[in-house]
Amino acid sequence: MGAAGIAMGPNLLAQGSSQSKNIPFLVGTMVMAEDLYEKGIATELDRMQALGAINTVMPFSHNHVARQYKPNYAPKTDKEGRTITDIYVKTNPKYYKNPEWGYRDPKDLYANRDILDELGEACAERNMKVYARILEPYVITGLIPGLEEYAEVDSTGEKGRNVCYNHPGYIDYWKGVIDDLIISHPNLHGFKFGQERGGPFFEALKNNAVTCFCTHCVEKAKIRGVDAQRARVGFNAFKDFSKKAKEGEAPIDGYFAAFFRILSEYPETLAYERFSKASREDQRKRMYAQIKKLNPAVQVGWHVDHSMGWSLGMRSFWPYDDMVGHSDWLSIALYFGSMGRRSYGHFKSNYQNLLFADADKETAYKMYLSINGMDPEQQPSLAEQENGGTEMHAEYVYKEAKRAVDNINGRAKVYGRIGFDHPGYNTDIQPEQVYEGTQEMFRARVDGVFCGREWEELQEKNTVAFGNAVRDHVKNNR
Ligand SMILES: [Zn+2]
Repeated sequence: MGAAGIAMGPNLLAQGSSQSKNIPFLVGTMVMAEDLYEKGIATELDRMQALGAINTVMPFSHNHVARQYKPNYAPKTDKEGRTITDIYVKTNPKYYKNPEWGYRDPKDLYANRDILDELGEACAERNMKVYARILEPYVITGLIPGLEEYAEVDSTGEKGRNVCYNHPGYIDYWKGVIDDLIISHPNLHGFKFGQERGGPFFEALKNNAVTCFCTHCVEKAKIRGVDAQRARVGFNAFKDFSKKAKEGEAPIDGYFAAFFRILSEYPETLAYERFSKASREDQRKRMYAQIKKLNPAVQVGWHVDHSMGWSLGMRSFWPYDDMVGHSDWLSIALYFGSMGRRSYGHFKSNYQNLLFADADKETAYKMYLSINGMDPEQQPSLAEQENGGTEMHAEYVYKEAKRAVDNINGRAKVYGRIGFDHPGYNTDIQPEQVYEGTQEMFRARVDGVFCGREWEELQEKNTVAFGNAVRDHVKNNR
């Protein structure tokens, strides 16, 4: 473990500003526009440079997604309870098939401002870059007018709660958003988009709603040689298997054999899962082509979400190869701070009590870590996870970053996104761990790094440790 100096003060602030200009790769951070507005853009950019050696800042341009995780889809509010806008950039109705798609309520806080324009000026003075980002608001919250008409259909024929990738109306929505964003911000350096939704296979194993079987999807699947009807019946069989297991009804031939038997009877479920992932990737392909046509200078990258590290489904059904050809860069989630608790929850519902339920839980946990590329001897034990959970060892950061780098093999840039101080996962991460984890990303030969999940949630001592690891890496590799 390396030394993580945490000295702070005016000297370091001055020093950091000049040092981060000489870093020859992307050192980014995600930040919320309201945090920049509240603390002051200039002040925060100076802190980012001085503490974290940051040279690229990436706010949301649109943040409708935040609401889908809140009770009653409530809006974000400031300390005084005032509603904060979901769209942080100016919009022009002429770009949208439905002009309401770009509407900002003038009563909302910051609805008269454009975070990308304001950051553009402040960053140019500091030799920093501005990237925009959007996470897909895939739950139909009523916030984006008309999305109800583009709803998914589940395997039982019911209307789903999410919007369908393949609905032409939904495709039009994104065309409008991207046109407006890219044309109205000619100096934008980069853009990231992410879709944090899983596929039908693991939803079936959780006995959740399995999608999508709308007419657009079924037709597209048919063209690609995938039998939606057989897949639908198979998913319902998996749902039944999951329901019975949860009710304590053990299969006569064992859990894994029962699982494999359904799979052998309905291999179309696997094909439909890959079809679903392909539809997800098609959304990215369309955006990439559109952005490159409008402004080829914009560096287009994708959010590789955290489930890639803990879910066998994401790991198997969404290979890095499928992202090549329409990616300038990828941002790989390496949230070692929250990974312990997040992966344990996934293990418990899908493996301990289902796929690996034939084995005792300690054996099952070791197997789970192993198939996700980790060494059970280095990672926390099952007892530690059962006892409230803890962070993962830096080995996870190295292995997961290296897996991306080796798979991509130079066909796009791979940026490691190390995560710590994640609210709700009280793991008390120390600067030494951040320093070590950041070093591990470089050891895995990533092309650049992102600091934390969101800038405003990070402890200052940990951002300093991140910045020191970046600067030490640059110094040692001159
Ligand atoms: Zn559909």
